[in-house]
Amino acid sequence: MSGAAETVDVLVVGAGLAGLHTATLLARRGHEVMLVDRRADLTTAIRTTGIFVRKTLDDFPLPAECLGPPIRRVVLYPPGRARPVTLDSPRDEFRVGDMGPLYLAAARTAVESGVRIALGTRYTGRGLSSALLVGPDGPTSVRTRFLVGADGARSRVARDLALDRNRQLLVGAEEVFPVACSAEPPAFHCVLDPSIAPGYLAWVVNDGRHGHVGVAGYADRFPDGMVAALRRFSASAPGLSGVDRPDEVDRRGGPIPVGGLLRRISCPDGLLVGDAAGAVSPLTAGGLDPCLRLSEHAAAVLDEALRTGQRDALARYDGAALRAGFRGRVLLRRGLARVRTPGVAAAAFALLRTPPGRAVAGSILFGDRSFPTPATPGRLTSPLASRS
Ligand SMILES: Cc1cc2nc3c(=O)[nH]c(=O)nc-3n(C[C@H](O)[C@H](O)[C@H](O)COP(=O)(O)OP(=O)(O)OC[C@H]3O[C@@H](n4cnc5c(N)ncnc54)[C@H](O)[C@@H]3O)c2cc1C
Repeated sequence: MSGAAETVDVLVVGAGLAGLHTATLLARRGHEVMLVDRRADLTTAIRTTGIFVRKTLDDFPLPAECLGPPIRRVVLYPPGRARPVTLDSPRDEFRVGDMGPLYLAAARTAVESGVRIALGTRYTGRGLSSALLVGPDGPTSVRTRFLVGADGARSRVARDLALDRNRQLLVGAEEVFPVACSAEPPAFHCVLDPSIAPGYLAWVVNDGRHGHVGVAGYADRFPDGMVAALRRFSASAPGLSGVDRPDEVDRRGGPIPVGGLLRRISCPDGLLVGDAAGAVSPLTAGGLDPCLRLSEHAAAVLDEALRTGQRDALARYDGAALRAGFRGRVLLRRGLARVRTPGVAAAAFALLRTPPGRAVAGSILFGDRSFPTPATPGRLTSPLASRS
């Protein structure tokens, strides 16, 4: 990575799912793409549980060998965990990705498509038409026509392109461990308890292969910090009876933007995708489906700009226009943020136990809604799994 400045059509910063997907789509359209990530190994520092919803599984060919068994059951618990509400769907609703192998598979596909990937390489800033990087061999710069920020919730690229930045963030952390076998069907357990997950949920996912135990909430509202909340929850987490938990567990965590899609996510020099663009459901905090869908729109707009030489094409990549599709979810997030005491959470559960309450919960958890996809002329072929 040292020596004379290289020149590329697009430099993508961040090899999470958003960056990998955007880079691959652009390379498949014949553009010269470089993808950098500060991580030296994409199987480390993972920041997601990896729950994929049915719509994503239907629309994107994720490699089947990287997905856990289908989950149809969600169990919702009030603070004291008494009388949980169980919702069973007649369809397969979720599958949990084995994220290390899944990122590696997506990176392999990117390379096969022509993307140059530089790991262990941090983006540190931007010059007039170049990006400054620090890689294993020291500092270097890359000349690029467009810069794509796929660098997560606290995007440095957003700052450098003077685009909008995420202001409303939750923080989440989880423990992951293998599960030998389970007598129970695969299930997603959610606990609504502001003392362990203020403003969001604590969860256990047990799909019979892996257990995930996590908490998320507003950082300044955890009574004794997030790490202590996770420790407390982990000690009494539901949905793991009969499971032998190992002493050593994987730990994941990170910020989750929940303010809704940002308004200004492009300028003539580049654009943002994934968490950097705030593309996360404000209600469920799910960001995997939005990051894939928004990446397709980003790649289509960049492809047009590169083919026509018209930088203005990026103006079509407009967060303000897409944001309207999030209005209901932003309102529901505000509702969830107001659940500040166990008493309020318990009262919310009284509603949940009624038939209309169950119907609303079912439609949120098992509904077909996904990230609002803009009409993209000539939808680019989804490249997450190599096709031979
Ligand atoms: C604990 C937790 C659990 C979650 N669970 C789910 C879930 O089950 N389902 C779901 O749909 N969503 C979930 N989410 C949200 C979802 O994971 C994210 O929305 C999604 O992974 C975002 O992908 P991304 O590619 O935009 O960002 P990321 O995956 O965060 O990737 C950003 C990449 O940019 C790199 N980077 C950052 N700065 C630089 C730099 N300066 N130079 C070089 N590289 C840089 C980082 O190393 C990273 O690899 C969860 C989030 C958290 C925190």
